[in-house]
Amino acid sequence: MTDRWDVVVVGAGPAGATTALLLARAGASVLLMDRARFPRDKACSEYLSPATTEILERLGGGILDAVESAAHAKLYGMKVVAPCGAAMCGRFRGGPRPYSFALPRTTFDTILVAAAARAGAHVYEATTVEDLVWENGAVAGVTARSCNPKGLPDGRGQRVTCNARIVVGADGLRSVVARRLGLIRSSPPRRVAFTAHVADVAGMDGVGELHVSKRGYVGLGPVGDGVTTVALVVPLAAVRRSRGEGRDFRRDFFAELERFPGLAGRFDPRRLVRDVLATGPFAQWSRTAVAPGGGAVLVGDAADFFDPFTGQGIYAALRGAELLAECLISVLTPCPPLRSGEGERGEFPLSRRERGVGGEDLAPRAHRPRGAPPGGAAGPRGSSGERDREHRPGASGAQGQRPRPIPLVTTCPASIPLSSASCSVASRPA
Ligand SMILES: Cc1cc2nc3c(=O)[nH]c(=O)nc-3n(C[C@H](O)[C@H](O)[C@H](O)COP(=O)(O)OP(=O)(O)OC[C@H]3O[C@@H](n4cnc5c(N)ncnc54)[C@H](O)[C@@H]3O)c2cc1C
Repeated sequence: MTDRWDVVVVGAGPAGATTALLLARAGASVLLMDRARFPRDKACSEYLSPATTEILERLGGGILDAVESAAHAKLYGMKVVAPCGAAMCGRFRGGPRPYSFALPRTTFDTILVAAAARAGAHVYEATTVEDLVWENGAVAGVTARSCNPKGLPDGRGQRVTCNARIVVGADGLRSVVARRLGLIRSSPPRRVAFTAHVADVAGMDGVGELHVSKRGYVGLGPVGDGVTTVALVVPLAAVRRSRGEGRDFRRDFFAELERFPGLAGRFDPRRLVRDVLATGPFAQWSRTAVAPGGGAVLVGDAADFFDPFTGQGIYAALRGAELLAECLISVLTPCPPLRSGEGERGEFPLSRRERGVGGEDLAPRAHRPRGAPPGGAAGPRGSSGERDREHRPGASGAQGQRPRPIPLVTTCPASIPLSSASCSVASRPA
């Protein structure tokens, strides 16, 4: 029986889910936590750059097939429209497919979370990480609050402490892990985005569009079924100014779009099929992705943020996860370092083999590590801190030996002492 974690991954977006998938597949015991329940929406233009396809293929596990069959829109290039109306259109070339995928994040992110669960990662949904656990200056775990499954009006749940050898902060733009590590840095320009799904946008023809003006820019990307994701990105200063003038970018979304010469007359506000989501301000990054005292590392938007204009955020999240997993596998495993994709991983202290957990062909629910809190979600939908408490009364981090956080270095000592990590649940203090 073991309830110890090699790695706790905070955030189950593309960066976190992919990191969890690769580490679990390599044999590590992985807890993947997200404050949301999947499928969850996200303010995004929902376009995967062409280089993303190669990563999805490398990830295996049926992910590319799932994306291909879910992606109702394929983008064959990008058009950039200047403030004067001049346009330039580039078509994708090279690679096995002359197109990239565009699909709602509700679908894409859920495919990745499900794949991570199939690979053996234990998934806690509706669990918000609030703080880090420290030991001798190094990160040794996280404390989190699980959503109250009974939906009590105060919305508060139970406090959970999860100890781990390594904490991965994959919790996005406003990463609590990066904040607790003191790694957040920011610089101008600071921007805010408003995104919506609009049906029957006139003039869409298989390419994404970027319309630039002095006011900001707008990205258009079809995501299938006649629906286009529309993202309006403006300076934070403009949003603040507009508030003072009684304007509201969410309410006046379509009026703002009309001010761009290449967009005027292309939208019918009655065809809004998903509410306008707002996100930001962004333009923030961490100076270093590794905790100064060891025990934690950042990936994806938590580590760095690509302006949406680049359309590279998801690619960077997936590629960052690949690189991180390769590094962590060698750190977590006694020498010689193993590379992702190799076969047996008996060396892992908390390997799936040791836990008796099967391969990816098993249903997600079968992947709960033996002895792990049974109330936690064993798949992307089943998190329940309440059941954790019921099944593990009195469980406490003090019961087991604390994990020994390890510095993140790529060179490997002769052997890394096996640490124990435990996940404990305490009722919320009154
Ligand atoms: C307007 C806009 C448009 C964009 N368009 C594109 C595009 O077309 N193509 C592209 O490639 N990129 C685009 N991006 C960027 C892309 O959305 C991000 O780069 C990408 O989502 C990063 O993935 P991630 O896994 O690092 O973070 P996220 O996808 O943000 O995932 C972070 C996860 O962490 C969870 N979380 C946060 N805090 C906590 C906590 N305290 N405890 C537990 N869980 C937590 C969140 O619920 C979330 O699920 C766009 C971004 C914006 C703002």
